[in-house]
Formats: sequence, C-alpha cells, structure tokens
Amino acid sequence: MGSPATAFSPACGTAPRGDRAFATEAVHAGREDLAAQGLHAVPLDFSTTYPSADARAEAARVDAFAATGARPAGPPVYARLDNPTTARFETALARLEGTESAVAFASGMAALTAVLLARSSAGLRHVVAVRPLYGCSDHLLTGGLLGTEVTWTDPAGIAAAIRPDTGLVMVETPANPTLAEVDVRAVAHSCGSVPLLVDSTFATPVLQRPAGDGARIVLHSATKYLGGHGDVLGGVVACDEEFAAQLRRIRFATGGVLHPMAGYLLLRGLATLPVRVRAASGSAAELARRLAVDPRVARVRYPGIGGAMVAFEVYGDPHDVIAGVRLIPPAVSLGSVDSLIQHPASISHRVVDEGDRRAAGVSDRLLRLSVGLEDVEDLWRDLAEALGDRTGGAGRLSARPGRPAAAGAHRTGPAAR
Ligand SMILES: *Cc1c(COP(=O)(O)O)cnc(C)c1O
Repeated sequence: MGSPATAFSPACGTAPRGDRAFATEAVHAGREDLAAQGLHAVPLDFSTTYPSADARAEAARVDAFAATGARPAGPPVYARLDNPTTARFETALARLEGTESAVAFASGMAALTAVLLARSSAGLRHVVAVRPLYGCSDHLLTGGLLGTEVTWTDPAGIAAAIRPDTGLVMVETPANPTLAEVDVRAVAHSCGSVPLLVDSTFATPVLQRPAGDGARIVLHSATKYLGGHGDVLGGVVACDEEFAAQLRRIRFATGGVLHPMAGYLLLRGLATLPVRVRAASGSAAELARRLAVDPRVARVRYPGIGGAMVAFEVYGDPHDVIAGVRLIPPAVSLGSVDSLIQHPASISHRVVDEGDRRAAGVSDRLLRLSVGLEDVEDLWRDLAEALGDRTGGAGRLSARPGRPAAAGAHRTGPAAR
C-alpha cells in the first residue's frame, strides 16, 4: 500500500470532546441507546405517519411544534415533522460540530434555502457573502430567487457591507473550487451580531469546527464527505437550538426533508469520517506536492488546514486532462471513496457569470480534484498520464486502445468537449 509521505495531523480531529475523543464520538454519537434496546445496527424507520387514538394529545403535540419548533416528544406525528433515524444523524453531527443541534435536509441546497428563508422571514433579506462559493449557492444568492439581496465582498469588507437589514454573512472555507481559506474567527468578529454561516463541506468537522470560532451556522452538503460513498444526497445545518427550531418549522412548512434511508446512510458515513478524511488527506497532500513541481502544472492550491481536495491550473487544455483520466472518474461532486476530477468552469461553477467566476479566481484552466481512498501511486500514474507529455501534449495517450487520444495543448482544432 502506498503510504502518504506527509504525516497528516488534523487540527482538532483527535481533540477530546468531554471525556471522549472525536473518533469515538464519530462511531458512538446518536447510537447510545441501542445496546439497552438489545440492538446493534441503527433501526431504520420508514413510517410516514404514526397512529394515535388520542387526537387531543396529537393536537397538543402539533401545537407545541408550531409554537416552539422543538422536536416532538414521542412519535413524530408525521414524517415531515421529524424522523427517528434522521434524528440520530442530526444528534451525531451536532456532537461532532460542537453545536447544540443540527437539522438535516434533502440536500445541501435545501439546507441553504431553509437558512435564507429563516432570515428573510424575519425581515432580514440582505446577505453579505464572500466569493467563491459553490456555484449553485452563488447562483441562488445572485439570482435573488428567494427574495434575498446579496452584497459580494472580501473578508476585509464584511463589516462595511453590513446594513440594518442584513440577516446573514456567508463564507465557504476552504472554498469550492479554489480552496481559498477564510479566517473564521476574524470574520466572525467583523459580523458583530449578524449570524455568520460557514459552509464547511470541504473541511468536515474532522479538520475544522467553525462554531468554536464564532460561526452561528455551520452548513454541510452531506452528499460529500459525511455520506462519503457517492450514493446519498443530503444537507445539514449545525447551530444553536434557537435557530434549529426555526429551521425545523421551515422544513415542516416547505418539505425539504431528508429521506430516512439517507439519514441512515449519513449516520453510517459519520462512523468512518475521521478515518476516510485522514487517509484521503494524506494522499491529497502528496499529490499536491508532486503537482507543484510538475512542469505541466502552472499552479497548485492545497489548503493550509489540509483536506482531500486539490485544485490546480494546467498550462495545457484542461479538457484534455478530463478526457485523459482512466482510473479517476471525470465527474462533478466530491468527498467519495473514489477520486473525482472536474473542470469547474464547465460544470460546478458554470451557473456563475463568467466575469464573476474569473474575478473569484476560478480560471478556465483550473481543475478540481477530490482525492479518494485509492492507492496514491495509482492516482499519480493516472494524473501524470492524463497531463500528457512534458510539453503539454497528450502523446502517450494515443497509444491506448479503445479511447480516442486526448487533444494536445498545441492542437488548433476544436477542444475535446
Ligand atoms: C455540493 C455543495 C453544495 C450543495 O450541496 P448539494 O447536496 O449538492 O445540494 C453546497 N456547498 C458546497 C461547498 C458544495 O460542495
């Protein structure tokens, strides 16, 4: 097995939480009651409704939820209010992020939508945000689809951009796709009393816990590292109970609930999260180091906090690299056990206006690599071959049967895609 040359030590991944270390919590949080019930695996509750012969008691439970947004005591009444399996995932994620609560949604975008609705329904429609963000988050804010208005700024400009009707400051760190990092503590200070949302999808709670640095709202596309196997779509917001109650009411009213099967898979994913993130980060650091000294690569970005994402700009045509990989699936998304490579300007950030995209550092030559759990030498061989020959061409690929040769950088004809 290829052992990464860089010893990877997560900033807080092994810090004890109460009397238990992070890795122990990842395996046990949300499952503490199982042994007493004579269970080992988590029960999966697919119920959409819950029988009750006592309609007065149900009325009281519905009233209580409407008034407080607190999780109903006892059975959930209806699956749009709550689900016991998903609730276990929420409990575990909150524990790992060090927040009071967490609220799960059908996707990362459904989670962000609920946050924006929670703020704008309080009359606070203005959002201050720092680019780059995930392409669809940028699109949601720029288009004002939810009646919000956005001011884009850099971290130093946040305090000046805040208005009386500002309901949210939003940053992503490390950012998708450039891996630019934001000092959460400094930004939280600039926000004053305005809640700071940190999209921490790329870092996971293994590498950073923004709530401890002053972020009131921590958002994850659970589709990525939390699930970790590329087979479940989900989103989650970790926050204080007061904001969680608002989010639950919005989730109930708008219906963006996580399916119980997804809740089950996400909870299972958390158990291996520290191991997966550490292993993939070791390989990513090694690949970043090799890319940085490769003459075909113009620039490499790898976060100071570590992680399993690498962004790099090539001198040649990035479409040739996408067409040239054989082992690494050329696909959008990230955080899976298998590595994935994509061209942000074509896919993940296609919905962002070209000028805005470039201004945010998303060059047309940028490639985003999500490093998985394959052997690092196999990954390097695949990348090195896809990068083509030392002059930027892809000559060696033409010898491979079954797939057309990738176009060389010097080719004058149309790009491969
Ligand atoms: C993928 C992603 C999202 C959106 O999440 P979905 O689960 O696809 O809706 C939000 N933020 C970041 C950083 C992402 O990578």
